[in-house]
Amino acid sequence: ARKKLSKLKKTPAVTKDGTAITLLANIELPDDCGPALESGANGVGLFRSEFLFMGRAANMPSEDEQFEQYRRAVVAMKGRPVTIRTLDIGADKPLDPTEHTALNPALGLRAIRYCLSEPQLFLTQLRAILRASAFGKVRILIPMLAHAFEIDQSLAMIEQAKAQLREANVKFDANVDVGAMIEIPAAALALPMFVRKMNFLSIGTNDLIQYTLAIDRVDYEVAHLYNPLHPAILQLISMTIAAGQKAGIDVAVCGEMAGDTKLTRLLLGMGLREFSMHPAQLLAVKQEILNSDLGAIAPLTRKILRSTDPDGIADAVLALQTS
Ligand code: PEP
Ligand code: MG
Repeated sequence: ARKKLSKLKKTPAVTKDGTAITLLANIELPDDCGPALESGANGVGLFRSEFLFMGRAANMPSEDEQFEQYRRAVVAMKGRPVTIRTLDIGADKPLDPTEHTALNPALGLRAIRYCLSEPQLFLTQLRAILRASAFGKVRILIPMLAHAFEIDQSLAMIEQAKAQLREANVKFDANVDVGAMIEIPAAALALPMFVRKMNFLSIGTNDLIQYTLAIDRVDYEVAHLYNPLHPAILQLISMTIAAGQKAGIDVAVCGEMAGDTKLTRLLLGMGLREFSMHPAQLLAVKQEILNSDLGAIAPLTRKILRSTDPDGIADAVLALQTS
C-alpha cells in the first residue's frame, strides 16, 4: 500500500466532486521540511517552535539562532506557507523538565500565558519569526488563547516587534497573517471574539479533547476516556469550522484528528478544507480525499452531528468510510 501511496505525491488533493483540499505538514524542526515536501505537503500548518527551546532553560535560543531556524524552514518550503506557532511551552512540553511545581500544569502558566508574562522572550521570538517572513510566506499562530485581552495583547506585541524591526531597518512581511489555535473550549464557544481579529484559525484537537473532557492527554489511566467522537467535541469542531466559513477566514485542524483516515470524511463533511498533520499520514489522508464525494458525505455527517448516542455515532462514522 505504501508504494501505491507514494504515487499520489504530486496528485492534487481534490474530492470526487471537485473540491480542492489543502494538506499541510506538522513539523518540530526545520529538518522535518524534507519529509514534509516528500509527502507532497502544500505547506507547513504547524511548526511547533517549542522544540527549539525544550531542555534549554539555561541557554535559550537567541533571536539570531531562532531566525536562522525559521528562515531555514521557510526557504526549504520554497514559497509554500509556513505557519510558525509561537512558544507553546509548559505541561507536556516543559522548558525545564526538572522543574515541576504546578499541581495542574496543563491549566497553569503555559503557552501564550507564559509568553505574555515574559514580554522580552516573546518579543525576541516575534522578531525572529517576522525576520524570516522576508524569505517566504510566513503565518504566525498563537496557542492556548481563551480571553479577548490575550488576543489584543498578542496582536499588540506583534505590532511592537514590527516597530522595533522598522526602527532597525530590518526587512519583514508587514502583512503577515496571524491566527489563533482553537484548543480551549471557551475559545470555541466565543468564536466571534476570534474571527473579528484573526486572519485564520487552527483547531488543536489534542488539547481541545483534553480540556473539554477534563482528561490529562498524557495520563494513561484516563486514556480510555480520550474520545474524539464525543458529541461535545464534534459540536465544538463543527461550530469552529462554520464560524470561519461565515467570516470568510481559513480554518484548519492541526491536532491528531487531522491525520486519522477514519475521520477524514467526517471532517470533510463538517466543511473542513485544510488539514495539517504528521507528514507520514499525509498521503493516506490524500487517498481518502480522492475517494470521497462531498454529496454522499453530507447527510451522514448531519446525522452524526445531531446524534448524542455514542454507538450511533461510531456506527455512522464507520458507514461514512464506505459511503
Ligand atoms: C493540539 O493541541 O491539538 C495541537 C496541535 O498542539 P499540541 O499537540 O502541540 O499541543
Ligand atoms: Mg495544543
